[in-house]
Amino acid sequence: AAMRDTRTKKTKTVCTFCGVGCSFEVWTKGREILKVEPTENSPVNSVSTCVKGKFGWDFVNSEQRLTTPLIRKGEAFVPATWNEALTLIAEKMGSLKQTFGGHALGFVSSSKTTNEDAYLMQKLARQIFESNNIDNCSRYCQSPATDGLLSTVGYGGDSGTIKDIASAGLVIIIGANPTEGHPVLATRVKRAKKLHGQKLIVSDLRKHEMAERSDLFLHPKQGTDYVWITAIAKYIIDQGWHDEAFIEKHVNQYSEYAELLEKYTLEYAEEVTGLSKAQLIETAKMIHEADGTCILWGMGVTQNVSGSHTSAAIANLLLVTGNFGRHGAGAYPLRGHNNVQGSCDMGTLPQWLPGNQRLSDVRAREKFEQSYGVNISDKPGLTNIEMLEAVENGDLKAMYLMGEDMAWVDSNSNHVHETLSKLEFFVVQDIFLTKTAQFADVVLPAAPSLEKDGTFTNTERRIQRLYRVLDPLGDSKPDWWILQQVAKYMGADWNYEHPSEIMDEIASLSPLFEGVSYERLEGWKSLMWPVKKDGTDEPLLYTDHFNFPDGRARFSLVEYVPPIEFAHEFDLTLNNGRLLEHFHEGNMTNKSKGLQYKLPEVFVEVSPELSKERGIKDGSLVRLVSPYGAIKLRAVVTDRVQGKELYVPMHSVSHENAINLLTGSIGDVRTQTPAYKQTKVKMEIINVK
Ligand code: SF4
Repeated sequence: AAMRDTRTKKTKTVCTFCGVGCSFEVWTKGREILKVEPTENSPVNSVSTCVKGKFGWDFVNSEQRLTTPLIRKGEAFVPATWNEALTLIAEKMGSLKQTFGGHALGFVSSSKTTNEDAYLMQKLARQIFESNNIDNCSRYCQSPATDGLLSTVGYGGDSGTIKDIASAGLVIIIGANPTEGHPVLATRVKRAKKLHGQKLIVSDLRKHEMAERSDLFLHPKQGTDYVWITAIAKYIIDQGWHDEAFIEKHVNQYSEYAELLEKYTLEYAEEVTGLSKAQLIETAKMIHEADGTCILWGMGVTQNVSGSHTSAAIANLLLVTGNFGRHGAGAYPLRGHNNVQGSCDMGTLPQWLPGNQRLSDVRAREKFEQSYGVNISDKPGLTNIEMLEAVENGDLKAMYLMGEDMAWVDSNSNHVHETLSKLEFFVVQDIFLTKTAQFADVVLPAAPSLEKDGTFTNTERRIQRLYRVLDPLGDSKPDWWILQQVAKYMGADWNYEHPSEIMDEIASLSPLFEGVSYERLEGWKSLMWPVKKDGTDEPLLYTDHFNFPDGRARFSLVEYVPPIEFAHEFDLTLNNGRLLEHFHEGNMTNKSKGLQYKLPEVFVEVSPELSKERGIKDGSLVRLVSPYGAIKLRAVVTDRVQGKELYVPMHSVSHENAINLLTGSIGDVRTQTPAYKQTKVKMEIINVK
């Protein structure tokens, strides 16, 4: 019998529970996780972590882990060997490709997997199956932020570092709750306020902990952020507080922008957003008086029909005030998953190649064509949203999905479930038999981050290495290994022996990453892209030019898109978001006993006013009904929410009360990101208690 491993091992890894990118050592004995220890060497978090990073890892040893490939036989799954599963995938997907072409196949990558996994996923799609139908879950969260930044300043990423946020004179947080969603980053803001009097403005529907601490709390009507942000830009210009020299030197389209601003008066903003003139003027003043402003935003902005336009409006406001290219200033979309930034950088997007190179860029495309030995169409592929539409109309026959529980994460879950059941062939690669996996024909057991080598890129564009803490459980395998096997069974000669070789390939094909190597990322070292050949990186972007051929930024001229209208009977606004203890749809954190104990079930927050009006008490059981579905849950009466606004956490511990049974399919006008935040419901009381 194998000897029990009694040695204690310490291995460095990077947290997988949010985009802050904390790194720490994991102490293990055999498969037992003894403790998680952050050290002063951690470039992001030093000795801090939050409760998820510290205690959220039980899921890796969960009995529910997938440990062998599964193949569907009728209604049931039967265990299979890797050879059987891979043979079936190659046979089915190969023949569908041959009959219908690569565009009949869709690939969904994950923002939880490593850069190397993501890169190979897009390579599998583009080289082996000749399809640009590749997307990732940033489609559900951060695509609008990326889009807004690409159209104004040129890079779809944070413009500086978390240190820059901490050194700003003023931090504005819009539609995000970092205390729970990005906890260690939140502590940096809290500390800056305490230590050097940093000012804080929070704009949100919900008065969460960060809002409680703010110098100014703004509560605009749902979906109207574009209007108040733009009105403030106009007011600043009207007062002569704008940075004229900066605009002249660095920004195009100023006169067109000034024209667009005409109608965004304070009076108009007051009427549309419900904020008072005094609050708007106060906000403008605080920006004017601050030594550097950083704006942080999250899904409260992006998951709206005007998500990308509002993100562009944020960049406009920062450009007007010269808040780019210097420390303590800039635009900071808060990436939710650990590797949202990286998975987009790696080209798991229908119109982008790895290294943030546009598919429409002929030279970039030719470079990949040469390397991959295939033609790559210049026609952008389908987004996640369009893939499901294409399944509905019979154009998309098969999907291959890695590490994404689309069945609960996409909006309008009932509809998604119906659609997934119509696929001719469906492969899901994951660590658990998720709801999505239950629709699959073949399920492949993957290894979670603690069982992998690779790199993640955090919200500030920082690339960090993670080392294998544990061996993959049972017959599960790292994602890159699985993707390589699929390619091999399709006849390709992929022969990567270690993820470092994949990173070398990425570096050789992407100017943005040309100086990235595992050697330069050894241990606690990290690099923030762009990384030059000699290894110099760029923590702060736009110090002398913006990322356009002429080196100049441009004001975005996009307009306000008003929120979706609902029938009168849906009289309550339903907001949703994160809680500290859980991650996303809950597949990982709901297997952690400690976290489960702290937060066993989700609930709906009801305002004191509404509680009084409808006779709802703490603990009342209510039913929320939207045009798309219904859920049942307990009420919590709290003044964190106001009037007819409700809040439900997005982590559906038991999936009967998953928020996305209520959300609809309409999305952001540019990126299709579902307008999760624009949901209206009616509420029925089941029992008052
Ligand atoms: Fe992990 Fe984010 Fe918590 Fe850091 S702040 S430990 S990255 S969940």
